[in-house]
Amino acid sequence: MYPDLGLFIAGKWRKAAQELAVVNPATEQEIARLPRAGRSDLDDALTAAEAGLRVWSRTAPRERSDTILRAARLMRERQHEIAHSITLEQGKPLRQAMLEVIRGAEFFEWDAGEAMRTYGRVIPAAHGHSFSVHHQPIGVVAAFSPWNFPMSQPARKIGGALAAGCSIILKAAEETPAGAIHIACAFADAGLPPGVLNLVFGDPAEISGHLIAQDAVRLVAFTGSTAVGRHLTTLASHHMTPVLMELGGHAPVIVCEDTDPRAAGVSGAERKMRNAGQVCTSPTRFFVHDSLFDSFRDAFVERATATVVGNGMDAATEMGPCANDRRIPALAALVEDAERKGAKVATGGIRHGDRGYFFPPTVLMNVPDDARIMQEEPFGPIAVINPVGSLDEAIAQANATPFGLAGYAFTNRADHIDRLVNELEVGNLSINTLEASMPETPFGGVKSSGHGREGGAEGLDNYMTVKHVWHSARIT
Ligand code: NAD
Repeated sequence: MYPDLGLFIAGKWRKAAQELAVVNPATEQEIARLPRAGRSDLDDALTAAEAGLRVWSRTAPRERSDTILRAARLMRERQHEIAHSITLEQGKPLRQAMLEVIRGAEFFEWDAGEAMRTYGRVIPAAHGHSFSVHHQPIGVVAAFSPWNFPMSQPARKIGGALAAGCSIILKAAEETPAGAIHIACAFADAGLPPGVLNLVFGDPAEISGHLIAQDAVRLVAFTGSTAVGRHLTTLASHHMTPVLMELGGHAPVIVCEDTDPRAAGVSGAERKMRNAGQVCTSPTRFFVHDSLFDSFRDAFVERATATVVGNGMDAATEMGPCANDRRIPALAALVEDAERKGAKVATGGIRHGDRGYFFPPTVLMNVPDDARIMQEEPFGPIAVINPVGSLDEAIAQANATPFGLAGYAFTNRADHIDRLVNELEVGNLSINTLEASMPETPFGGVKSSGHGREGGAEGLDNYMTVKHVWHSARIT
């Protein structure tokens, strides 16, 4: 069921002299070899993307939309096959991978609709003159997608670029290439012209360094860590190339005194364990009103401890392994540091088993402000539960990181909600739910969580330029 892996350049699949191993994180066994692009492959991708842009930017929006919709339909039809590949390479439970494929298809479907709504406007002008504003495709996009959502993360970038009339060179994550490979297959089968979508893999720094330096590349779109995002932004700034950055998060959850602590605790634990916590909107820092602390903590810890951890292919599994071996020492170090500084480990905390990259659901309580985990995104199944005495304290704590992606609260009080809407420094705020985004809602961060938005009515803005045209009826 795992696809044959290749580079997709100018509408054709190709192999390369050098290869990288793709490993199943649940078993640590190699499942495939991935071609590693060399400099000439990247140059071919650039030439192809320039040719693709000439064709695609002149293709009628409705035709672009139809092609994207045909590809999305194929992805839905291939849901089982794609989900199976995702679980093999990334580890998440098959049920979650099935949902990811549908979410990816929905991103494409939303963008396909937006392709036909990139309206300009007419500005009133003096007689004999007209002012009009046109939105035009920005050009070739160099995009980089991460390994936590192998299909839906590439879908965000490809959907936005193609809907806007751009061509794209995507470097998807080397650890989880199959999601993007399936997308490229669907677009090839849907009749996308050659060169509009190009897919490469290899050495991330080499590829980004080469592509971002090219004049042809007019937008750099990245999802991943703040550190890499900052590096790519610096590279892009040398060429004045704009960037779309969807970076890390460290989501706070404020649990107010008027909520149901047990329901909130169960919801928090279930959401934290989704994709083994490897989600940029994962709820991590729970600030719980003193009066509810014990019952919230008990419900959370009970549900977290009961989570069935295992191979994502097993039907009973609720949480799979971490996607790569780097996460295990990184998570263990965060727990050790917090414990040394006075936090209490309520459950989990050390590697689970000795085969596969498993880390158990972990709950840290009463974590001091100077513990690293209060500032560093764990990107794993670790939650912090701390008591707070007031909403003032909760908001101050919630804002006390460099991140500002998702934030959550449980409350029904209108005055609390009003303050949260106005005072939480996040790009996405959710009340009484730990869901953060839908294809039709704009998603992105503030502060070090990046800038630009994916999805929603704002989703194509970064992929387009604004041109003002002043047309005078006579020479003036
Ligand atoms: P990392 O920062 O090394 O890599 C993150 C992603 O960036 C990977 O897909 C990688 O291939 C890519 N990358 C790395 N260096 C690059 C470069 N020079 N040019 C282009 N792409 C490059 O970290 P990691 O160990 O893979 O992941 C851990 C951290 O990444 C987490 O702590 C989390 O903050 C972040 N992350 C965030 C998201 C997200 O959705 N925002 C997704 C995955 C990872």
